[in-house]
Amino acid sequence: MPELPEVETIARDLAFALEGQKVRKMRLLDPVIREKGDYQSPNILERKRLLGIERRGKNLIFHFSGNIAMVCHLMMTGRMILDSEHGLKKRYLRFFIEFERSRLDYFDVRKFGRISFLKEENVKNHPRLKKLGREPFSINSEQFARIVKKRSKAIKLILLDQEIICGLGNIYADESLFDAGIRPTLRPDRISVSRLKHLHKSIKKILKKAIRKRGSSVDDYIDGFGRAGRFQNMLSVYGRTGKACKKCQTLIKRMVLGGRSTHFCPKCQK
Ligand SMILES: [Zn+2]
Repeated sequence: MPELPEVETIARDLAFALEGQKVRKMRLLDPVIREKGDYQSPNILERKRLLGIERRGKNLIFHFSGNIAMVCHLMMTGRMILDSEHGLKKRYLRFFIEFERSRLDYFDVRKFGRISFLKEENVKNHPRLKKLGREPFSINSEQFARIVKKRSKAIKLILLDQEIICGLGNIYADESLFDAGIRPTLRPDRISVSRLKHLHKSIKKILKKAIRKRGSSVDDYIDGFGRAGRFQNMLSVYGRTGKACKKCQTLIKRMVLGGRSTHFCPKCQK
């Protein structure tokens, strides 16, 4: 699933290419991906101008003129691609938007992705957005420590919980915990405040680096131009089970935590 760096990359690519353009038409080819909203028909977007694209957690929010917003979540296999000629199968095309000078295609093999059309004032009450926790970049380390400290689940599961801190998924939770030297199974109420603050710095550092590398292309992620990211080559623990730790040469271990595969160095992470 695309995480914060991948969704941020897509948001920036699409904004760069599409902002300011008017919609000629939109077609929803598979209504199963449409969630309830203020508007059911995608025709509502016709002749509206795209004012901006914003990321919130792993969601994309398209702001249009006429006080209309389109909220999207790519879930597992959703892909938004500009002027696509990437050989993706037509039968996986779920919607497209024709702008004045570009075309945005949405492909989704498994159809878990979701879109909805809302009045701007109702975006904050969207069921998925309303429950989202804090953005890692919008809080400081003291706030982060305070938010996670009182929890009694494994720290890895806290990081994955979108209602506590949003945007992190399996890859960046594992990488951040490695960077901070924290064992994924530790409970935050048993981790010192200074180590939690350090973890917040690691999260921001890893996410920034991943955004600079345009995300990680595991599970076939591609950006808004259909290109792969490059951060997958820089992963320290995620997907490196049985390989030598880049810091200490100990073999990276994998365990299942809350149903999610979790990768860590038994020596570097205490
Ligand atoms: Zn190590």
